[in-house]
Amino acid sequence: MTTDWLIVGAGFAGSVLAERIASIRNESVLLVDRRDHIAGNAYDTLDEHGVLVHQYGPHLFHTNSEQVWDYLSQFTEWHPYEHRVLASVEGQFVPVPFNFESLRRLWPKDRAEQLQARLVAEYGSGVRVPILRMLQHQDQSIRELAQYIHDRVFAGYTRKQWDLDPSQLDPSVTARVPVQIGEDDRYFQDRFQAMPRDGYTALFRRMLSHPNIHLQLSTDYRELPASLEWRRMVYTGPIDEFFGYRHGHLPYRSVRLEFRHEETAQFQPTGTVNYPNSEPYTRITEFKHMTGQQIAGTTLAVEYPQPHEPGRNVPYYPIPRPESAAIYEKYQSEVAALAGSTIFVGRLADYRYYNMDQVVARALKVFEDTIEPMAK
Ligand code: FAD
Ligand code: UDP
Repeated sequence: MTTDWLIVGAGFAGSVLAERIASIRNESVLLVDRRDHIAGNAYDTLDEHGVLVHQYGPHLFHTNSEQVWDYLSQFTEWHPYEHRVLASVEGQFVPVPFNFESLRRLWPKDRAEQLQARLVAEYGSGVRVPILRMLQHQDQSIRELAQYIHDRVFAGYTRKQWDLDPSQLDPSVTARVPVQIGEDDRYFQDRFQAMPRDGYTALFRRMLSHPNIHLQLSTDYRELPASLEWRRMVYTGPIDEFFGYRHGHLPYRSVRLEFRHEETAQFQPTGTVNYPNSEPYTRITEFKHMTGQQIAGTTLAVEYPQPHEPGRNVPYYPIPRPESAAIYEKYQSEVAALAGSTIFVGRLADYRYYNMDQVVARALKVFEDTIEPMAK
């Protein structure tokens, strides 16, 4: 058997490229995944109670890229949804990103008003300030407030999630959830925010329905028969695994997800509640808020961060810090030596803490810049 392309991994990276190659280049694609389903970590399915859940943790779609939005809109209708998160701090729920309402809930009225005025004078209204930057501010009252927020919202959560202090991680990690100088209580401020109306798996099913795409699940590419020939390959799995860990293991964090069903219409006031300092878990997500599903009963995902153990749990989060970057560089020079015969794309193959839209954008760019111009 021969195929023009072998694509390893049916998550966003592999599926977008399979679709582009099949429809624009009109070439054949064998898309394999060692899991028994498509959609990678974005996979969703009905649980035993009929509630739509995300098997690998809650996935909220948001993007500022019109290109990504238009591209995905070919394969799904959307359910409008803006994610809101509360954090349990000192026994009460306060909005995260930490905003003016969070201040008012934790401080006496007069003091909260003074601090708001100070923040607006320093940063301007509506600005989002990363906590590590706020901690460096020249003004002592702002530094003290930053330390207060750091200790109550970031330090404990980050310790649980990464087993590190915020200062030991690349600043971009905590900057994902900056302090909000204002009232906006949305978790994301992107122009486009929505959930695929029929779920992510349905979106992938439509994306992969092209006759040039042959899908083979429960298949590790290393176990494909020797008689199978392909001209080119896209790899979206872990880059260190591809090279037999010859430069060592790239570190990851994993998560154990506990799914809990409750016979109540609604368990918590927002889609997600974070527990920075109490509880052994980091957050609880209630899927019905996000999906808009109308059904009696509700299912929750409780996230317990774990060290990643290769072969035993899923490598969920690349750990953005200099030690990992140094190992990744070594693998990247191996990629260069392959001289373009295998293309590496995705969260695991690029070892980048990408959101879904960033993976789609990256795959579309690789297609346009590298794959589309290739000789047939
Ligand atoms: P993956 O989805 O991991 O797909 C890679 C696929 O390759 C996998 O299915 C794997 O089985 C397969 N594979 C690997 N090796 C082999 C092999 N040897 N043979 C065959 N198959 C192989 N992003 C957001 O935008 N919003 C969110 O709210 C959000 N929440 C998240 C929550 C969690 C807990 C996690 C972990 C991630 C979250 N993300 C979120 C990020 C999102 O999951 C990723 O950006 C996206 O799914 C990455 O797609 P990918 O194709 O690169 O990788
Ligand atoms: N974070 C935190 N407290 C919170 C929310 C986030 O300390 O209440 C930090 C933590 O380090 C986390 C990072 O900000 O890993 C990014 O949060 P995000 O919600 O974007 O993480 P993801 O959804 O990717 O797991």
